[in-house]
Amino acid sequence: MKEDLLQDPVFGMAAEQFDRVADFLGLEQRVRERCKWPKRLITVSLPVTMDDGRTEVFFGYRVQHHLSRGPVKGGLRFHPSVKLGEVAALAMWMNWKCALMGLPYGGGKGGIACDPRAMSMGEQERLTRRFAQEIGQFIGPEVDVMAPDVGTTAQHMAWILDTYSTREGRFVPEVITGKPVELQGSEGRTQATGHGVAFLATRALNKLGLPVLGASAVVQGFGNVGSYAVETMSGYGMHVRGVSDLSGAIWNKAGIDALDLRAHVAKTGGVAGFPDAEAIDPDEMLEQECDILVPAAMERVITEKNAGNLKCRILAEAANGPTTPEADSIIEERGDIFLIPDVLCNAGGVTVSYFEWVQNLQRFSWTKLEVLAKLETKLNEAFENLMDFCEERKCGHRLGALATGIDLVARVKKTRGLFP
Ligand code: GLU
Repeated sequence: MKEDLLQDPVFGMAAEQFDRVADFLGLEQRVRERCKWPKRLITVSLPVTMDDGRTEVFFGYRVQHHLSRGPVKGGLRFHPSVKLGEVAALAMWMNWKCALMGLPYGGGKGGIACDPRAMSMGEQERLTRRFAQEIGQFIGPEVDVMAPDVGTTAQHMAWILDTYSTREGRFVPEVITGKPVELQGSEGRTQATGHGVAFLATRALNKLGLPVLGASAVVQGFGNVGSYAVETMSGYGMHVRGVSDLSGAIWNKAGIDALDLRAHVAKTGGVAGFPDAEAIDPDEMLEQECDILVPAAMERVITEKNAGNLKCRILAEAANGPTTPEADSIIEERGDIFLIPDVLCNAGGVTVSYFEWVQNLQRFSWTKLEVLAKLETKLNEAFENLMDFCEERKCGHRLGALATGIDLVARVKKTRGLFP
């Protein structure tokens, strides 16, 4: 199993990062071994009746990295390239993210290898419900709480809530987060990740002594995270010059209007053809001059090929794992890019998921203003702690963020001891 996992490039990358941090922290072998490997790797086959009458079998995964500090927490993604190793890597990153943010969770992640863009809503509903049924015995409010990720939305969470609650014979909103608000979802959850990215970008600008008003940004990805990052950054008076998604990339040096772009994407399905911008090559877009570059799509897009050519002051990692270790070394060597590492940069989502779970358990709800204010307080605290840690230990932001998370998990494992 270990070899199988390590052969996956994304897991290999997460494991390499872990080893580097474990060396830095001087973790003893006994704790290191327990922290590195996932506790449960669940694979299920999911037969679904397609609209044309065929039956198609999909494969779904859920990896629970560890349950030492509470239930596991993390998203469920629908994407054609989903693999067990990738899901295991994403679960490991969720661990360090939750620990870094001080949330009482371990890390988890799920995925189904499918292309939601090519499926009807009916097919997606049957697939989601079948997954919730198959995985039902392994999840629960105190065991594993799922949430949206790439390719899934509040609607998918509502189907999981319904399937799980039907199974239990009672309404169990606390089994899932990122739900629609009318089903006890939290105010502010939809925009939480993008909002957090934009907020942290302002903190980084501040550290660099650069003004927020008029700062320029480039965003790769216009899904839930990217679109709200664009919207919030524009709201702060920044100019988002470039945006890309699967349909292509668009560029307007004077800034792209966030709401007009959202309306265009709702109508056409992608950013390409937005009337108030020119087309640009998506790879070239990443290398344009800007204050803040935001990769908000998939893993491993900043590589040794483009890291040396980046012309941003701040790299705000809204996606999980967008920068390869080789690119990391190049960026560290350059020394001119302020990195906001993924485990902090996109932690707004899981933080508001935690708020949602807490509200559900209390059968009480907070206003959007309360939620976003509490989110900013938590992100700011984690950001300042990271700055202090890196200053004190003379290390880069990625190492510092992972070390903070891994150190807490390691201490918990050590204190709890090994049973039997
Ligand atoms: N999928 C998001 C992430 O990668 C959110 C997870 C959650 O809210 O539990 O952080």
